[in-house]
Amino acid sequence: MKRLVVCSDCGQAASLVTGAAIYPHRRDLWIKNFWRCECGAYVGCHLFTDKPLGSPAGKETRDARMLAHAEFDAIWKADIAQGREKGKARSSAYRWLSEQLGTPPEDTHIGMFDRSMAQRVVEVCRARPLPSRPFPESRKTAL
Ligand SMILES: [Zn+2]
Repeated sequence: MKRLVVCSDCGQAASLVTGAAIYPHRRDLWIKNFWRCECGAYVGCHLFTDKPLGSPAGKETRDARMLAHAEFDAIWKADIAQGREKGKARSSAYRWLSEQLGTPPEDTHIGMFDRSMAQRVVEVCRARPLPSRPFPESRKTAL
């Protein structure tokens, strides 16, 4: 069955292209698939599949999502640095994010967010304190 991937910027259906169409000077990205919209918005796919990592977006939205991911990933990575298991750290961070945003957990994917939602992710993540002492505290006391 053919996938329907809709642009988050303009609502048109995107088409499947290779990285060569989007990054002509990055031969290392030519094996990747992308969904690209006529308006220029695009999104990458999970490697060797046509499954999009989110919805196609223009540069402003892609930049906002990237910043959102940087802020959000800092939260669960800080947990891992404290000795928490990766899967648990990530899933509890996503649960927290969905509560903060008021979005159902199944719809809480930064890759699907528009620009203003991605900006809200940055705001709620920055409002959450991160440990400011050197990692890992637990190992230090054991020495
Ligand atoms: Zn579009």
